[in-house]
Amino acid sequence: MNSDTHLDGNSIGSLLQDLFGREMTDQRACCDACGAINPLATARVYVDAPGHVVRCAICGTVVLVAVTVPTGVRISFQALRWVELAP
Ligand SMILES: [Zn+2]
Repeated sequence: MNSDTHLDGNSIGSLLQDLFGREMTDQRACCDACGAINPLATARVYVDAPGHVVRCAICGTVVLVAVTVPTGVRISFQALRWVELAP
């Protein structure tokens, strides 16, 4: 945990693992807004919103939103330019 208001990207590790089928918090991703490239673990995760809101640790842009709906978990990649799956 980084502060009282947000968690780090490790807090969505199981969600990302369900989505990609592998550990993802150590994988790099690029913010579409500022171009910063960082491991997903460095992202800021806000859980006091409806669902999980993931923001770029550098510029604060919302890069991913995950919301539980009656039919499952709905994930929006709002501003992720890319996610790298390193071997
Ligand atoms: Zn950014």
